[in-house]
Amino acid sequence: MKHVDVLVRGAGIVGQSPALSLGRLGLQVGLRPDDPRPGGTPDVRAYALNAASVALLKSLKVWDALPADAATPVYDMHVCGDAHGSAIDFSAWEQRAGELAWIVDAPVLERELGNAVRFSPHVHVLDAAQAESIRADLTALCEGKASAGRAALGVRFERHDYGHSAIAARLVASAPHQGTARQWFRSPDVLALLPFDSPQPQHSYALVWSLPRERCAELMALDEAAFAAALMAATEGAAGDLQLASPRAEWPLAIAQASAWCGPGWVLLGDAAHLVHPLAGQGLNLGRPTWPR
Ligand SMILES: Cc1cc2nc3c(=O)[nH]c(=O)nc-3n(C[C@H](O)[C@H](O)[C@H](O)COP(=O)(O)OP(=O)(O)OC[C@H]3O[C@@H](n4cnc5c(N)ncnc54)[C@H](O)[C@@H]3O)c2cc1C
Repeated sequence: MKHVDVLVRGAGIVGQSPALSLGRLGLQVGLRPDDPRPGGTPDVRAYALNAASVALLKSLKVWDALPADAATPVYDMHVCGDAHGSAIDFSAWEQRAGELAWIVDAPVLERELGNAVRFSPHVHVLDAAQAESIRADLTALCEGKASAGRAALGVRFERHDYGHSAIAARLVASAPHQGTARQWFRSPDVLALLPFDSPQPQHSYALVWSLPRERCAELMALDEAAFAAALMAATEGAAGDLQLASPRAEWPLAIAQASAWCGPGWVLLGDAAHLVHPLAGQGLNLGRPTWPR
């Protein structure tokens, strides 16, 4: 193959979704994944997806392929502020929606998108040599925040450091979550417990905890029991006894935006174009399907 309509570089969730969507329109798409890296820790990412993202995944026939414990509906959200008992509550019932959001297992979603790519007659997975030699009318750079393709185009990535890192992990809780997401927006930390059904249905959470770097390093250095105790103190026991069910992963947090999002023959998508704080739950949700289905 010497020519494709669109070459997509990067096969994360953002890369695979438009590759499949464009393939469904009958365009010839080349998809260049990153080379696999040996080792690494288990992927504990879980994302809150809104109705538009779920609708896109449904249209790609990927949503219904997810195992039941990989997508958990959120029916209620309880958000606590700083002192003085400030809080906001939302419910799907009040919003007249089936659910407020879905908490989705990111590695399982990437795997199911990969399965859909394998069955797509118009999406061609390319190795490095093929990707270098192929001609494309449009190259979509979906390489994430450290996109080398963006740098090669000379596009600046204007970055503001929050001075925070996020800890992500899977937890099990003594009390059932009942579809309630809990968030604490306060100074200096921001913490989210997102209801999840794996490893234990109704008794699991995905944790995202944003903290000043030094405090984050201290918490990462604690053993599991001491970390669980710190988590209990931070959540005031609101979700019952919490225990780690996975290793902890850490991300430095920044807000960033590319100085240009598109130019002749290229476009930046996803984190290659913009990076936002994970507690907003918007990184993926900022993408919107606007093409005909
Ligand atoms: C802790 C945490 C929680 C989050 N929670 C949410 C949430 O609740 N809701 C939400 O919407 N968003 C959330 N986000 C944001 C979300 O993770 C990102 O917006 C999303 O992963 C971006 O996807 P992406 O495909 O653009 O980038 P990535 O997921 O980084 O994927 C980029 C891919 O490109 C590959 N790649 C890199 N360089 C090359 C190259 N040169 N050639 C080929 N491939 C390459 C990489 O290996 C990778 O597979 C969260 C982020 C974090 C850190």
